[in-house]
Amino acid sequence: MKLAKRVEQVTPSLTLAIDAKAKALKADGVDICSFSAGEPDFPTPEHIVAAAKQALDSGKTRYGPAAGEPKLRAAIAQKLQSDNGLCFGAENIIVTNGGKHSLFDLMLALIEPGDEVIIPAPYWVSYPEMVKLAGGTPVIVHTDEKSEFKISPSQLQQAITPQTKLFIINSPSNPTGMVYTPAELAALAEVVVENDIFVVSDEIYEKLVYDDTKHVSIGALSPEIYERTIVSSGFAKAYSMTGWRVGFLAGPVEIIRAATSIQGHSTSNVCTFAQWGAIAALEGSQDCVETMRLAFAERRQAIFDYINAIPGLSCAKPNGAFYVMPSIAKTGITSLEFCDALLDEQKVALIPGIAFGADDHIRLSYATDMDTIEKGMERLEAFVRSRSGST
Ligand code: GLU
Repeated sequence: MKLAKRVEQVTPSLTLAIDAKAKALKADGVDICSFSAGEPDFPTPEHIVAAAKQALDSGKTRYGPAAGEPKLRAAIAQKLQSDNGLCFGAENIIVTNGGKHSLFDLMLALIEPGDEVIIPAPYWVSYPEMVKLAGGTPVIVHTDEKSEFKISPSQLQQAITPQTKLFIINSPSNPTGMVYTPAELAALAEVVVENDIFVVSDEIYEKLVYDDTKHVSIGALSPEIYERTIVSSGFAKAYSMTGWRVGFLAGPVEIIRAATSIQGHSTSNVCTFAQWGAIAALEGSQDCVETMRLAFAERRQAIFDYINAIPGLSCAKPNGAFYVMPSIAKTGITSLEFCDALLDEQKVALIPGIAFGADDHIRLSYATDMDTIEKGMERLEAFVRSRSGST
């Protein structure tokens, strides 16, 4: 069979593939410790579930507007104004089938063959693939621990060419957990404005920041950067709503209209009653978000301590999201070999850094319970020791 060329250019999502494998092994009764997909282990808060049930009971089961329920678009605009200082109205918002789909809509709306999109590595697995699917060229800029995995303004400037259309920034970051400071964002914003390109700010982890870290949206830093900013986000991580598939894109009306046309011919509206759950998430008490954040903060400390106590492994302390990204450079094996052998020998699932453009690293999601963290870290230590020959 001859499939479309675009299929040859994309690599299947390793995060989803490994997560599915871990879940299947678990279902078969294998004692797996999974640190694979970033999926909170908490149930969706009750009041959100109740709102969706009530929506079902009251007949909110029909087609809705492709751009989303008007009430949800207005609530998202309100949230962006009050939480993020971004002056968006409902017309600047499209509700999408998860945060991932909001980025996909954006790529289709903005990127065409010949366009370059700058992506700092380590990057989230789907960014380069989405750019390729839209016919664009991903331009990867590598960062490392020394710069806290952050792109500098001069690196950004050097990567810009006349073909550059878009720069992707993700803070708090998946996979590194790093958070850009307001000053760092302001310096990057200056480069974006000077070169008159767009920036998409993936803020899906904005509620998950630790210690005294604050999340700031790059789009709020000046009127000039606001005009060039598109925000991508969703409900999955902050409200433990991964399976609901509700996200959004916020930005200039022209882009939102284009994304709405695309959605009108692809998915139509996001599941209507799921959108009513999302409305409850925004309008209800935010205590549930704080409860989950505090649990993640405790797990972050535990996993950081465990990993740095394992000879041969080390990781920087992340200040956001729920990932750590240790270096495995000292083990001398590739990240795929490392993760395959670890799953095979110790039944621990995590994601090889190659998925994120960082082959000498591995990613662990600590959105899992403390017992799994304790057991999994013992197994990880046994694995690393067996590789280095010490006991
Ligand atoms: N975003 C999560 C992760 O990176 C979920 C899986 C996915 O969509 O890639 O693990």
